[in-house]
Amino acid sequence: MAGVRTTCPYCGVGCGVIATADDAGAVSVHGDPDHPANFGRLCSKGAALGETLGLDGRLLHPMVGGDKVGWDAALDLVADRFAGAIRDHGPDSVAFYVSGQLLTEDYYVANKLMKGFIGSGNIDTNSRLCMASTVAAQVRSFGEDIVPGCYDDLEQADLVVLVGSNTAWCHPVLFQRLAAARTARGTRVVVIDPRRTETCDIADLHLPLAPGSDVRLWNGLLVHLRNAGALDADYLADHVEAPADFWTTLAGDDQSAAAIATDCGLAEADVQAFFALFAACPRTVTAWSQGSNQSRSGTDNVTAILNVHLATGRIGKPGASPFSLTGQPNAMGGREVGGLANSLAAHIGFDDAIGAETVRRFWNAPALARKPGLKAVDLFQALGAGKIKALWIIATNPAVSMPELAGIRSALANAPFVVVSDVVAHTDTLAFADVRLPALAWGEKDGSVTNSERRVSRQRPFLPPPGEARADWWALAQVAARLGYSAEFDWPDAAAVRAEHVALTALTSRRLSLAGVDDTAPAHWPAHSPRLFGDGRFPTDNAKARLVAIRPRCPAAANPALPFILNTGRIRDQWHTMTRTGSVVRLGGHRPKPFVAIHPDDAVRQQLADGGLARVTTGYGAALFRVLIDPGQRRGSLFVPIHWSLATAADGRAGLLANADPDPMSGQPGFKHTPAAIAAHATDWHGFLLSRSAAAPAADWWVRVAADGCQRFEIAGSGCLADAADAILPRGPMMSEFRDANRGLRRALYDDGRLEAVLFLATGTATGSRDWLAAQFGALEVDGALLAGGPAGAPADTGPQVCACFNIGLHTLTAAIRDLRCSDVAAIGAALGAGTNCGSCKPELAKLLQDARQAVDA
Ligand code: SF4
Repeated sequence: MAGVRTTCPYCGVGCGVIATADDAGAVSVHGDPDHPANFGRLCSKGAALGETLGLDGRLLHPMVGGDKVGWDAALDLVADRFAGAIRDHGPDSVAFYVSGQLLTEDYYVANKLMKGFIGSGNIDTNSRLCMASTVAAQVRSFGEDIVPGCYDDLEQADLVVLVGSNTAWCHPVLFQRLAAARTARGTRVVVIDPRRTETCDIADLHLPLAPGSDVRLWNGLLVHLRNAGALDADYLADHVEAPADFWTTLAGDDQSAAAIATDCGLAEADVQAFFALFAACPRTVTAWSQGSNQSRSGTDNVTAILNVHLATGRIGKPGASPFSLTGQPNAMGGREVGGLANSLAAHIGFDDAIGAETVRRFWNAPALARKPGLKAVDLFQALGAGKIKALWIIATNPAVSMPELAGIRSALANAPFVVVSDVVAHTDTLAFADVRLPALAWGEKDGSVTNSERRVSRQRPFLPPPGEARADWWALAQVAARLGYSAEFDWPDAAAVRAEHVALTALTSRRLSLAGVDDTAPAHWPAHSPRLFGDGRFPTDNAKARLVAIRPRCPAAANPALPFILNTGRIRDQWHTMTRTGSVVRLGGHRPKPFVAIHPDDAVRQQLADGGLARVTTGYGAALFRVLIDPGQRRGSLFVPIHWSLATAADGRAGLLANADPDPMSGQPGFKHTPAAIAAHATDWHGFLLSRSAAAPAADWWVRVAADGCQRFEIAGSGCLADAADAILPRGPMMSEFRDANRGLRRALYDDGRLEAVLFLATGTATGSRDWLAAQFGALEVDGALLAGGPAGAPADTGPQVCACFNIGLHTLTAAIRDLRCSDVAAIGAALGAGTNCGSCKPELAKLLQDARQAVDA
């Protein structure tokens, strides 16, 4: 089969992918050299897409309760329960909670049904957790939710400022484009982030600002630029409107570099260096992500950046633009159709009477919603309060991803009727579903997505639909038909849905228009417009942008009981709640366990050992993590990843800890800032279990790690080792066991000669090659050295994985640096291959080289 051009379903970079299926059904995946987002590159997650396509664990049939049913029965029930709630309690008693994973066509149908026909604004999306503050800020400053620049700008800028973004891990291909541009033309890079992340590998300056002090820094920069004569007076006069008290409001704070440095927790010299660099570089791109958005002052954080770019006229020009990095593959498409509860459709707000009438007529809508619906946090609170009687969740896992998770889970547990559409059979959210609907996955579905630079690309099918899985837009249209709207929801295919959406965007006065946007090749909207606002004309009443006077607002403070500030975020090789990436063995090796990163000084004070367990507690819950001592962590701050769920770990969920504390304008939760405490959690033993059974072990703490041929659990607990072994892997008639004081207890169980499970427990270090042991489950004959943990003369443990593509561990790399005298990343690549495929590990390779140099110098 010829390769099919499609788009990666993970992050907002929106890389082009060529997928090729062979006659046996195996699929190989390569970066599309002609796609203008990635020019052939893929990161570790994208490169492993071919390994996510198996049908193990897929939801393949509609289910009601525990029973497999036909689509008609499931859809009849959904329509009946939604209709009943609407009849008895009104349209605001039902809601959809959808996802930036949806294709634009799915999103369009969901939004049309809720806002045009059910008559409620109650559709919100998990993009609320990720991008809503940027949406609110762009609407406030520009008059419309528009990203003014494009990826090329990051390559054409003289200065790139990355704010609250671990670009190296979260937008890896874009990071590689920037790194290459820096090498080629000397781009200066400033990273503003409380953490020293891998992104700082290419930073000329890192500003580890205090959490919550963004506005203070950006306001200070703006005043400095004004004092230095670095504003664009003509652009300001002609194209920007400022309230009369704008500058006096800023003057209300001491704007000296010394005062700003104190308030932001920075060195004064670093603040001065940043201000001077910014003033000197008209070609500046400021790119930001979750660190700016996920804050109770997220809208203001972004607005402060937009103020600086508007006042300097650095917008919509080559190499000069503010630039929001979207997290999800189609967060932008969702915003285009109106998938956020506070937007109607096609960038038309509820306050736009003319635009709303256009939408009503176009849809022939009998019950157009007239007011915004409930944003995510409010939506789940309403569910908990019994006000939402029927909820349809599509392509997202809020029972893991929402903040203040205990309340979310309670709301779902007590909800009268929950429908969940998903591609997999088991998630934390599906456990609460009354009806489960099987959706098409990547490689099966057909439609479009929009990436961070307003570029629309296609996701195309290259696999047949498995089982009874169907497109989400189809399921929504079927329910709409059962509610009495068959004529308005009657499309033969996704292309027809898309044509309708395109036609609607062409009717409005907004800049969003998909008219003329080629859907056969990746293309910007509006057509042929990689940049907007370069002409100084904005979609406001007077065609001017707006400076908005904002003052810093203090976030929730640490206190003696909760003396740390907890931050949450992503890791390099996992995506969201791991429902896809979590099954890929080579993606599980880099950071296999949920961890809490802490500065070495704080670790000493808290008596925490690297690799030990620690319990993190906030005002909302507690969870257990492996301690990762990280000098890049700011003192007084903790960081935990967001990915682990009940399905993958006993007790490592970030959502249990994070406060909702939403931004009052955007409704985006303040994930990045929760007062927290941390304490060591003592255990008597730890080890691992490899088993054919997927059942979680009876251990105090466990984490499921992807493995070939068996299930792998890393485990720890308290009490007697032998008792623990009996609880985790009860003795059987066909059992071998080994015990000694140093290596602990090792046990293997067989069934009719077939290896069933292997357990290694130790009070010290439970050694043993997990990969080699896992391979024994597929071997024709189990190796006699099984309980030795590896074959005689086997190479030593290669250490934690660094390079996912070639599965190269830390110890192998440090040995190569030492023994083969590898002096740079290219030399490591030549010797071992690491960093030569997707490149996602390059920052870590550079860090290893730096550590080695420092060790020699010391
Ligand atoms: Fe996919 Fe990686 Fe590209 Fe993001 S950077 S779209 S995850 S390949």
